[in-house]
Amino acid sequence: MRRHRNVKIVATLGPASDDYDVVRKLFEAGADVFRLNMSHGGHDEIRARHNIIRDIERDTGRPIAILADLQGPKLRCGTFEDDFAEIEDGQKFRFDLDDAPGDETRVQLPHKEIFEALEAGATLLVNDGKLRLRVDACGPDFADCTVITGGTISNRKGVNVPDVVLPVAALSEKDRKDLEFVCELGVDWLALSFVQRPSDVEEARELARGRAAILSKIEKPAAVDAFDAILAVSDGIMVARGDLGVECPVQAVPPIQKRLTRKCRAAAKPVIVATQMLESMIESPMPTRAEVSDVATAIYEGADAVMLSAESAAGQYPIEAVQTMNAVAEQVEGDTTYREIIEASRHAERSTTADGIVAAAREIAETADIKAICVFSHSGSTALKVSRERPRVPIITLTPVTETARRIVLSWGVHSVLTQPVERFKFAVVSAVRAAKASGFAGSEDQVVVTAGIPFNVAGSTNILRVAPCDERLIFGAEGD
Ligand code: PGA
Ligand code: MN
Repeated sequence: MRRHRNVKIVATLGPASDDYDVVRKLFEAGADVFRLNMSHGGHDEIRARHNIIRDIERDTGRPIAILADLQGPKLRCGTFEDDFAEIEDGQKFRFDLDDAPGDETRVQLPHKEIFEALEAGATLLVNDGKLRLRVDACGPDFADCTVITGGTISNRKGVNVPDVVLPVAALSEKDRKDLEFVCELGVDWLALSFVQRPSDVEEARELARGRAAILSKIEKPAAVDAFDAILAVSDGIMVARGDLGVECPVQAVPPIQKRLTRKCRAAAKPVIVATQMLESMIESPMPTRAEVSDVATAIYEGADAVMLSAESAAGQYPIEAVQTMNAVAEQVEGDTTYREIIEASRHAERSTTADGIVAAAREIAETADIKAICVFSHSGSTALKVSRERPRVPIITLTPVTETARRIVLSWGVHSVLTQPVERFKFAVVSAVRAAKASGFAGSEDQVVVTAGIPFNVAGSTNILRVAPCDERLIFGAEGD
């Protein structure tokens, strides 16, 4: 089973995608990575979703990446008696610390520190800024507000306070518990919300102890300012446009998205563009033209992945949303303008043997009639470098390390294959051509490029490149033994 596109699709799971059949359909429609949102759902639900994904992985034989998104110091309101309430412009509304279910007059805001830092006149934004309230009066356990822009407020919606600097830690008590829980479950990526400084990332990395790769969500102005330092200590990035567009002026988001996407590619680290990509598909089977254009733009820019949030987690058309992204991706990637943009923004700096080998692999693949670049990669670092080259031919990464096989799925263009460990290069070539043929990338009459590092199973040792025939008799012949 193979994809016919390079950009990856991340689909968030939730109540709309909670059973094996739906998740399997999402996978078959094109979801490569599943996101478990720790802000919604208890540990039992998260475990159940995790197990469903691993079942699908087993049943399809394809590595799947699971990304657990930690809530971080995101402020959220409590829940409502009827799951939601309608609040109108001009009416009064109270936030407090009382955990009784809310209604159209009040709701819990379970963050003591926010009441301590709030001042009359401050603005509270709810649900990605869709609702706006002004604080009239506040005390240590309440804030009485006037609704400036009303609408529907529902269970556990996000609350932003752009005017106030909140003294909040990077990882809350809940985040630490969630982190340990998902690392024990065996997720592949941890997404950190509201990262503000590199030390936030380092703190999470220490707690994860290598059990998961760390992805920083850029959704605070402070993180944009400190981006280079944050990228340096992260394994991947999410342009988290939902909160970013609330914390910054919304028109600042597209230039930030472009800049961050390019920097991530230069650093050979995967970047996800997220939030509101196909928002109208929560309720409609057809996206808007603007949404299609937004997904296309992220792909033209060279993002590794595009993401669905509520569209796949809570919408009425989760499968159609994945199909739409898949169709947009195939269309964009078939466009000559796409290739022009991708090639023009290729990173030229090369400092290691592996950089040279992967650049050469791409050159050869694009010069001769080569069907795929096959990369043996232990830690995944060489696979990331091949992905950064954004070659015109498919990339097949082969690794005996399950964790690597899963993590690398997030990266642009990678078809990940879990292999037996190999000790000799000719066996590496054999498993590469078998994988290429089994997944429909090549036939016996074709050729592939194979790169590997000798000695095997040592990270960062890539030093060998071969143009190999897919006919196994010829491989052994050429090796001379
Ligand atoms: P969230 O993060 O969905 O967890 O808020 C993404 C974003 O803010 O865009
Ligand atoms: Mn967010």
